[in-house]
Amino acid sequence: MKTKVFSMKELTEQQERDAIDTCAAIIKKGGIVAFPTETVYGLGGNSLDAAVSNRIYAAKGRPSDNPLIVHICDMKGLYEVAEEVTDAAIKLAERFWPGPLTMILKKKNVLPDETTGGLDTVAVRMPSHKNALMLIKASGVPIAAPSANSSGKPSPTKAEHVLEDLAGKIDAVIDGGAVDIGLESTIIDLSSDVPVLLRPGFITADMIKEVVGDIERDPTLDEGVCGGMKPKAPGMMYRHYAPNGDMVIVSGDTDNVIEKINELVSEHNPWETAVITTEENKDAYSGCRVVCMGTRQDEQSMARQLYSVLRSMDEYNIKYIYAESFKSDKLGDAIMNRLLKAAGHKVIYVERRY
Ligand code: AMP
Ligand code: MG
Repeated sequence: MKTKVFSMKELTEQQERDAIDTCAAIIKKGGIVAFPTETVYGLGGNSLDAAVSNRIYAAKGRPSDNPLIVHICDMKGLYEVAEEVTDAAIKLAERFWPGPLTMILKKKNVLPDETTGGLDTVAVRMPSHKNALMLIKASGVPIAAPSANSSGKPSPTKAEHVLEDLAGKIDAVIDGGAVDIGLESTIIDLSSDVPVLLRPGFITADMIKEVVGDIERDPTLDEGVCGGMKPKAPGMMYRHYAPNGDMVIVSGDTDNVIEKINELVSEHNPWETAVITTEENKDAYSGCRVVCMGTRQDEQSMARQLYSVLRSMDEYNIKYIYAESFKSDKLGDAIMNRLLKAAGHKVIYVERRY
């Protein structure tokens, strides 16, 4: 199959609408189309068609027990796929939709088991990206769309990343340029009494608490999958977002972190070793490739670059990757969550843990 590329660059409004209509026609016929959202690129198809969900899993090489997020373009779409739309869901939708928040709710039976991985809940989101909203509207169906990468690879933040992984396996890509946020949506589970944060993202825990009061946090976010604990979002179980090399995070006081990383780097060949850092510390390292993820003063710029940085590790055939730690109460929570997963939760603490 040849994957068609629809570039949205410098199009008139009419040309843009025509391109979207062509892609919507592909979706109506049971095809799958990658499209930009404000978080990462998604691989979309008709969520009401079991065969389409199976095509999405096959193209990504994704295990079919890892359910897909269903994307809608208006509140009517929410009632089409969710059986119980709770007060919390309505309040969160009013505050954050369209935007990078996914809610888990009890599902309606119109959704096949293939889309929800056999669960009785559905993950649903209304994205804010103009092309995403246009595509969902023109398709006339809720669109199931996981991130448009091969399973296990970092999520795509540009159409080029999608093509690297999926060219020849999907019908089309809408190229809307680089995405805005660069990390997948926040996921909040509203299917039981207390909301539970399943995946951190641009919408932080504190922002959600302001709207719905106290929330819990899936314990596997911090501890990893150990001692028989299973994450409630099945996808969080898999080693994810990962480059091929062996990755370790070094956490602690800045001077100690730099010293420890330089010591670790000196044990390997310079051309197979890389450090992930920021502008603040980039000159402190030597004897390896030093990759900079923006500045700590601007977490959004770090988030935007994270997956390109992780993908670049494979381009340069890096075998040993050492990353600094970027934990914070804001977007740093999501950045660290993705880095921890990329590193398979391998962390060296160079000072007392608190
Ligand atoms: P992706 O679309 O690649 O960003 O991944 C979607 C994430 O949402 C995965 O981690 C899924 O396991 C999770 N997810 C989707 N549906 C549900 C659901 N009904 N309950 C819990 N997690 C879900
Ligand atoms: Mg994904």
